[in-house]
Amino acid sequence: MVGRVRNVAIGKVRAEVMAQWQERWQSSKDGRELYSFFTEVTDRVSFGWVEPDYVVSQILTGHGNFRSRLHKMSLCDTALCYCGRADETRDHVLWDCELYTDEREVMLGNWCREDIGPVYHRQLVASPEGFQRLRSFAHKWHSKRKALELQ
Ligand SMILES: [Zn+2]
Repeated sequence: MVGRVRNVAIGKVRAEVMAQWQERWQSSKDGRELYSFFTEVTDRVSFGWVEPDYVVSQILTGHGNFRSRLHKMSLCDTALCYCGRADETRDHVLWDCELYTDEREVMLGNWCREDIGPVYHRQLVASPEGFQRLRSFAHKWHSKRKALELQ
């Protein structure tokens, strides 16, 4: 009986903590790139297969080797992508840049293109298969991006 009461209390505390965390996450101005993948904190907590490495973290957070970011920090002369069509941002690389069309097609596989938007970001992390596709894309992007930088 005492164990049951204790478990109920722990459950209530845990639910309250998650609700407060969610509220702070939703109203924060920080981490909006990551937010596009994880709008619900319960997703991040339960998606145990999401184990970001150095490269995947750059895509998830947008805090990586992107000219737009480097330019804002005065570490690069231009924000323009190597394709010359747009600023090199995380979402440009992930969804639009023609330099990564083949890699993107492999990542998206048979998923429907009409899903593009916040839900689509989530789709890339919502299953072990999706996250593996994202990880593969991220590493291909990173290698290609490094080669472009050296040209
Ligand atoms: Zn581009």
